[in-house]
Amino acid sequence: MREVLVIGGGVAGLQAAVFTAKAGVDTLVLSGDEPLVCRTDQIQNLITRERITGDEIIETGGERVRSLGGEIRDTTVTTLEREDTPGPFTATTDTGETHTGEYAVVATANEFDFLEPLRDELEFVSGRDGEFTMDRHIETDEANRATDNVFVAGLANTWEYQTSVAIGDGAKAAVNLISDKRDEAYIDHDW
Ligand SMILES: Cc1cc2nc3c(=O)[nH]c(=O)nc-3n(C[C@H](O)[C@H](O)[C@H](O)COP(=O)(O)OP(=O)(O)OC[C@H]3O[C@@H](n4cnc5c(N)ncnc54)[C@H](O)[C@@H]3O)c2cc1C
Repeated sequence: MREVLVIGGGVAGLQAAVFTAKAGVDTLVLSGDEPLVCRTDQIQNLITRERITGDEIIETGGERVRSLGGEIRDTTVTTLEREDTPGPFTATTDTGETHTGEYAVVATANEFDFLEPLRDELEFVSGRDGEFTMDRHIETDEANRATDNVFVAGLANTWEYQTSVAIGDGAKAAVNLISDKRDEAYIDHDW
């Protein structure tokens, strides 16, 4: 049993996993196809670099997750379900793997079919009109929580399309998840 299953290995999912792994929370990222950010080689709006490629962000993010003790598996989740609420989740993948987890972070942008078993627990809202916007998002509270033990990050949660927003949203989801798990405000602070 993992403490956290992160579903989706784009910038939002990887940033969430960096936070949970760094906090010592046992974290497994289940990452399907190529993240959206890999379709561009010129992100120019991050404060840390004049320009960076999407591939480099994902490669560096994956290395950070692993160096902090997290695991990443390249596999697509076909169903996420649980018998009781709250209760552990079981994620089944297209390669026949099953993984159980106490918490789930959903960071899959516009892909929600695998959440069908949880349809009674989740609310969806329509996306904003406009180029590049997503069709739907999962409704969350101000802590990125969709239902007990499910947190949502990035384009799965919000219409704001930019990489930096998704990164920040992944961090926010993770900080709130850890706070929920520990029943105290979690501060990640490096001395
Ligand atoms: C062509 C292009 C250019 C862009 N240029 C810029 C730019 O210049 N500046 C900027 O700030 N932003 C840019 N963006 C936007 C940026 O890519 C997104 O904001 C960001 O990637 C969103 O991250 P995310 O983690 O929410 O979603 P994603 O990156 O889409 O990550 C979601 C991941 O979840 C995976 N997934 C989906 N379903 C499942 C499942 N069932 N099981 C497991 N995994 C699953 C997907 O395969 C994907 O890897 C650009 C995007 C594109 C497409």
